[in-house]
Amino acid sequence: MRFPFALTKKIAGHIIKHKLRKTPKFAMVLQLEPLHTCNLTCTGCGRIREYSTNLKDMVPLEKCLEAAVECDAPMVSICGGEPLIYPKIEELVAGLREQGRVIYVCTNAMFMRKKMKDYLAAIYSPEIEPKIKKLLDQKLISDKDAETIRKSDAAARSKVVIRPTKWMYWNVHVDGLEFTHDLIVEREGVFKECVEAIKMAKILGYQVATNTTVYKETDVQEIEDMFKFLSSLEVDGHTISPGYEYDAAKKDMVTRLGKQPEDFFLTRNMTRQKFAKILDWGRAFTIFGTPVYQEFLAGKRELTCTAWAIPTYNIKGWKAPCYLMTDGHYDGYQEMLTKVQWDKYGVVDGVARDPRCENCMVHCGYDPSGALGTNYQPGDNWKNIKYNFGAKPRPFPSSPELAQRAYNGVTIGKGHLAEAKAAINSPAAGARGAFSRKEEEHHETRVGTFCGDGDTSERDNLLAKIKDTKKIDARPE
Ligand code: SF4
Ligand code: SF4
Repeated sequence: MRFPFALTKKIAGHIIKHKLRKTPKFAMVLQLEPLHTCNLTCTGCGRIREYSTNLKDMVPLEKCLEAAVECDAPMVSICGGEPLIYPKIEELVAGLREQGRVIYVCTNAMFMRKKMKDYLAAIYSPEIEPKIKKLLDQKLISDKDAETIRKSDAAARSKVVIRPTKWMYWNVHVDGLEFTHDLIVEREGVFKECVEAIKMAKILGYQVATNTTVYKETDVQEIEDMFKFLSSLEVDGHTISPGYEYDAAKKDMVTRLGKQPEDFFLTRNMTRQKFAKILDWGRAFTIFGTPVYQEFLAGKRELTCTAWAIPTYNIKGWKAPCYLMTDGHYDGYQEMLTKVQWDKYGVVDGVARDPRCENCMVHCGYDPSGALGTNYQPGDNWKNIKYNFGAKPRPFPSSPELAQRAYNGVTIGKGHLAEAKAAINSPAAGARGAFSRKEEEHHETRVGTFCGDGDTSERDNLLAKIKDTKKIDARPE
């Protein structure tokens, strides 16, 4: 099966239940943003620019769990900001699991290895030595890490940790191969850390997905190579979505980078060109999402936006109308469903009901449409069932050539801080220059530049600052 049976059954059951009850609008995936602080400043990320990234602005753990109960989405995507900076992330994952939800921890991967080392310390016994050896052989942990794990004390053993389960996915942000990804996240070494975290997760039995945004400058061949490479690492699934010129990101393009949004984000036609091969990718790789949504991306059909099915909850409440645009925040999910005039949004038969929706084809607006059967065409249900219950594509064979294509940036001396930067800023670079950034501008949460070996100093600094605010949830563990 392409996806674990228990998960597919849970999601299908949720849809059938609401269809039978004739519920007009219901949640499929909760986008939960416990905080907006991040250790990176990716180009095109609206979150860290639209919201306060002040470390005291976090959603308390109980509120996060209540939001999941309130909307009752079977899947919860914990995003942000960087959710692994959230001080109660382990308790949040455990609490959502107790509620029986499928959990995606959307992360830039910089703190993943730290969290997995915590897990190893909590469960250590001599039986896991073969795994420790494998991690050491592949240099995914250091000798010092192994010793710390082996000598774990009572505190480490009683700690709530993020454990491997079929109900949870690490969902790692990867926007291309090394050169492109490091450029987009505006820091060298991040791609390498993502790959090492993925390898470690797979050795330990975690499920791993990746999420990719396709921009105007994204090379389609590179995306295909990226899927091959990730598949060779035995990644369990991929989400892919077109980048879109939503308000906060657009503002950042103009003010911080001095670029025009159309230089960077995709229009509808451009999206269709970039995603022309998505149905082939869906056959070759484990792409999440329905084939109906894939047909929409490839320009083979129209869909109507169902943004209410993927609601976003954050420090300000329920964000409307969608993950991307903000016209207001509401105290309750049902209140948002009732008060928002949903028919003002989306694109119907090629006509944008709101000009800001004109170029939007993102998964958080349209992927649920494919699953919920809006704009239904005969055969759609069968298509979706066949896709989900069909055989999982085999991992792509790993090879030195594939690895060579993947590590095409700082690993071979082509980091964006050196020659790559010169290249993108040259007049011949065209829109790729949109990725360049002004040296003097650093986001307030960018507290360090070192990455690539699982170093935790950044996170520790951030957590120290959080404690200093004295306004966080200071309840005992
Ligand atoms: S990792 Fe990048 S895209 Fe994700 S929240 Fe941080 S800055 Fe934004
Ligand atoms: S089409 Fe839907 S998801 Fe896209 S911006 Fe408009 S309301 Fe949001």
